[in-house]
Amino acid sequence: MHSPTSTRKRWLISLLTLLGLGLTLALSYWYHLEQGFARIQPLANRQLSEVINFIDGALVRYESIPHVLSTNPLLTRALEHSGNTEEIAAINRYIEEIQHVTEASDIYLLNNQGTAIAASNWQKPYSFVGQNYAFRPYFTEAIAGGLGRYYAVGTASNTRGFYFSYPVVDKGKVRGIIVVKVDISDIEAQLTGLAKAGQYELAISGNDNVIFLASMDSWRLKSLTPLTAADQQAIIQSRRYATREVSALTINPPYDAIAKPTRALYRISHDDGSEQFLDTKSSMIKAGWQVHILTPTKPLYASLPLVMLLSASVYLLLALALLFSLERRKNMLRMQQTHELLELRVKERTQALEDTNSKLQETQDELIQAAKLTVIGSLSASINHEINQPLAALRSYAQNTQTLLQRNMLDKANDNLSTIVSLADRLAEIVAQFKSFTRKSPGQDKVNSLNETLHEALTIVKPEIDKQQIHLMLVLPPQPVQFLGDKVRLQQVLVNLCSNAIVAMQQVQQRQLTISVNVADSICIQIKDSGSGVNESQMEKIFEPYFTTSQRQGLGLGLSISRRIIQSMNGSISVANAAEGGAEFNISLPLCSEE
Ligand code: ADP
Repeated sequence: MHSPTSTRKRWLISLLTLLGLGLTLALSYWYHLEQGFARIQPLANRQLSEVINFIDGALVRYESIPHVLSTNPLLTRALEHSGNTEEIAAINRYIEEIQHVTEASDIYLLNNQGTAIAASNWQKPYSFVGQNYAFRPYFTEAIAGGLGRYYAVGTASNTRGFYFSYPVVDKGKVRGIIVVKVDISDIEAQLTGLAKAGQYELAISGNDNVIFLASMDSWRLKSLTPLTAADQQAIIQSRRYATREVSALTINPPYDAIAKPTRALYRISHDDGSEQFLDTKSSMIKAGWQVHILTPTKPLYASLPLVMLLSASVYLLLALALLFSLERRKNMLRMQQTHELLELRVKERTQALEDTNSKLQETQDELIQAAKLTVIGSLSASINHEINQPLAALRSYAQNTQTLLQRNMLDKANDNLSTIVSLADRLAEIVAQFKSFTRKSPGQDKVNSLNETLHEALTIVKPEIDKQQIHLMLVLPPQPVQFLGDKVRLQQVLVNLCSNAIVAMQQVQQRQLTISVNVADSICIQIKDSGSGVNESQMEKIFEPYFTTSQRQGLGLGLSISRRIIQSMNGSISVANAAEGGAEFNISLPLCSEE
């Protein structure tokens, strides 16, 4: 189950990812088109100048022909004698020849009324001879005295042409006009070839926005702008396009001849429906033309889905990687927090354990001390006796010395005083030993002499041994033996074992306590008595705390504490019953090599 906060978070992440995807798609769409147009535009500009240069080159060689021809006196003569058939025939042949040489479409001579009196096509069925061209602007321009330029569909030939005209001047008067017509279908064919090779379309429109030359058949003599009835009327009246009907192309958005948009994109109808083009245009002032390079945008849009798909995939991959790394970081942080919490818990627990341990240690120390004092308590009667005896002796020696001094028996008194001093020393020694034994031991390990420790322990139990008339036998190795541990604690063990042995022998006649020390792989101390021995079923139980069969004030802690003390010295303690009767306690301690 997810919490409401995490569900909200998931929703937010999904929403952000989707927003990012949308943004990526929009950006890749925009960037791809921008890049594409930035690539197309300079190319279209180059193609445009190429086309303009080509047209200029194609027309320029015809431009000067009328001027040159106008200076020929033959023309003036023909104009003067337009009724003379011979003169007219001669001029017809002449301009026919010039037409052949220059490869112009037609050359013809108009009188100053605009009627053709001679033409290179004088023999053709559509001969211009006799036709009147006064309505053509190239006539009015030339009659005014200058070079006339015009493009139109021939009324007789019905072909599209570009016209150059020049006045024939004689004696300062314009006598007629010489006209050279260039068929533009050849130029168009060549330009169409260029356009196909460059994968663009081409259209040339005039001031009236009617396409006069195009690489696409269906565009020819079509208007770029919608035509009103008045426009139609004006076109018909100008007879520019002869009898051809001019209609408007469907262009979306509507074509604007004046506006110069940064990127002119038009969807233009053509033979196979409609298509979007980038319009790059420039004017040819002299010809009065607008040249359009129309680059199809289809290839640019065709690669768009792939680009968008690619960028979406890259975006999703990156988003996934980001989400993954965020999740990882979150998990790592969570793990780190858990780890730190765990460490803190462990520290707290360790501290608590240490506190408990030190409390336990204190309790244990108290218990050891209590057990020690219990043993001392059980031995107190004999210890009292041990102290009282020298004290009584001291008293009697002191009284005796008084008497000796009164009798002036100074030598004897002196001997008595020496005995008193040694008795006092003995008492001090006993008291010091008890003081040392009963003090609370810190439990610190040191290297100690085993013999010394044994003797000091025996000082504690000796009065009771004597009192119980026990025969003590001590079997010690010749060399000194050392052990590592707390001296008072080992003394406590030894006193405890001896004290138990004394109790065990109370009911028997033959009382023998043997303490022997052996040193081999370890130090072995054996304390053997001649008592009743340990009940076989209680062999291990006797080491358990509070186990006792004793009727005296024993707590049942002596052996369990003794085992604990020996174990703390890395040793062991065990019990067995001797073959000849009595219990046999064996202590094993590690050897100590330190001096
Ligand atoms: P306590 O002496 O207070 O009973 P201990 O732990 O010293 O406690 O001894 C436990 C018991 O082990 C004694 O009550 C006794 O039954 C048994 N025991 C100890 N030493 C001897 C021994 N030398 N001979 C026989 N039984 C013994």
